[in-house]
Amino acid sequence: MYSVRRSQRVSPRRRSAIHKLATTAAIFGCLVALACQTATVEQQAGGAGESAAQVSQTAAPPPGTPKLVLLVVIDQFGSAEFERIEPFFTDGFRRLIDNGVVFPRGAHQHAASETAPGHATISTGQYPRDHGVVSNWYVVPGYPELIWAGDDDEHGKSPHRLMVPTFGDWIKERYPTAKVFTASAKARAAIMLGGQKANAAFWWEEEIGLLESSSYYDVPDWFDRFNNQRLTASFYGKVWEPLPMSAAALAEVKVEPLDLGPLSTGFPHFFGGLRPAPVESFYDDLWESPWLDMHLTQLAHAILAEEQLGTDNVPDLLALSFSVSDIIGHRFGPHSREYVDILLRQDRLLGEILEHIDSQVGLDQTLVVLTSDHGVVPAPEILQRWGEPGTRVDWETIHCVQRAGQDLAERHGVEQWLISGSYLAPELSEQTGLSEIELEQLTARRLEECSAVEKVWTDSELTDPEARARPSDEDDERWLFANSYYPGRSAEFQIRYRKYLMKSRGSLTTHGTPYLYDRQVPIIFMAPGQAAMRSDERIATIDIAPTVAALLGLTVPPDVDGRDVTSLFGPATAVQADPSPVK
Ligand SMILES: [Zn+2]
Repeated sequence: MYSVRRSQRVSPRRRSAIHKLATTAAIFGCLVALACQTATVEQQAGGAGESAAQVSQTAAPPPGTPKLVLLVVIDQFGSAEFERIEPFFTDGFRRLIDNGVVFPRGAHQHAASETAPGHATISTGQYPRDHGVVSNWYVVPGYPELIWAGDDDEHGKSPHRLMVPTFGDWIKERYPTAKVFTASAKARAAIMLGGQKANAAFWWEEEIGLLESSSYYDVPDWFDRFNNQRLTASFYGKVWEPLPMSAAALAEVKVEPLDLGPLSTGFPHFFGGLRPAPVESFYDDLWESPWLDMHLTQLAHAILAEEQLGTDNVPDLLALSFSVSDIIGHRFGPHSREYVDILLRQDRLLGEILEHIDSQVGLDQTLVVLTSDHGVVPAPEILQRWGEPGTRVDWETIHCVQRAGQDLAERHGVEQWLISGSYLAPELSEQTGLSEIELEQLTARRLEECSAVEKVWTDSELTDPEARARPSDEDDERWLFANSYYPGRSAEFQIRYRKYLMKSRGSLTTHGTPYLYDRQVPIIFMAPGQAAMRSDERIATIDIAPTVAALLGLTVPPDVDGRDVTSLFGPATAVQADPSPVK
């Protein structure tokens, strides 16, 4: 029997590198008097277990408190995609749209619109500048290697670099016997949703073709039994054909055919190559198949049933992040038939999960929240069809940006100007006779000479208290970058590229900018006793955690960035409306 419990799964070489970087990061972080909070947070969190004394002190929840919170994150599901595809949802998403409080145009209020910071922001109600998860990768000044969000030398993976508690942690703080489980194909998504006190987080590990957790968590015994069924084997030989859609529907949902060249095939998609039985490549290919979301759903059913979530008097949390929409969005673009099909399938999978919850807990006892970690920019070739200035980054821009440090070093007669991680070289001020501010400005202006670079923000500009104060304009660029900036983890120079620039060469399209197409996401709350409504109010993803807390009757820690937005909800219904039948 294969056991993944308490596995580390980090190669000795990688482990050594991580240790070196983590140590350096810790030293550097302490120097800037911020990263040392890690130890404090972990000590306060006290690990996954709770003492009997704490349990006995727990007061019963007030009457009407939801017994279960289901948080669903759809990876790469911007407001534009939500509004385009929404009319074709018939199942789980439809149920939420018809019965929930719907904010189609919520927004992340940080510039680095990526997966790890998006999930950490949703779960904590804090900006990346406060929760510390600035990007999928952390830079370490002077080291070329990046640290993957969630990597941990001791446990393989854990939330130890998440600097603040999540709302799952708030629930466990108030109700120590509450259960908090998270799952996603992506480790960083599952880990960031759970926080420090989660019972367990689960994710996909293609190298072993199984789901995995880490020794950080108290992984339950049933997880190995679930894994050892090897349910993904039944997906081998399965062909991905799109769900039927009429030509009119495809036009309405703005599916745009795009020739991706001879190496890219269309439907039907196969996974695992020309072999009679699966090998590792099949489990890797599952990332680009609908089957990985299906497997996540199989796990969600197992968590609900095995842990009997929502069946006692304290609220539990199940947080799920569906990843295939992001992988398919990157590869085929958000206007592909493939992307739309994945969303329609996620709609069905969520319907299945809601059915399970309805029979086990009752949807009238369950708070359901749906949102996304970020949006995406349409493929440049599609944008050009629409007359928009979509472009792919050219070699001149790459060359210009790469040469910036060397040019400045030569111009000022020093050996080195920038070190790895995009930091000013040590002792540069002494060598040049220029102040830190002058050095920063010279570097920023040199980078801004590159054609696709429109604006460069520096460490001094982003750590200025004024930059962090909430502006009257919620699209204020410096504020968005400051909200994403954490000294010692972020590059010292933060670059805003031209709108609609596809800055990555490795995929059809991507995200990660402060532009609204990357930041704007739907936010839906379906709460017991709450009448359905729809609002154009642009609430923020930092508002999700405090709003969930309010709906559970929890006290929100005072330093949380977000606000409880239940005052924007319509009147409560006297009796929970019968959830609409699945269409
Ligand atoms: Zn993502």
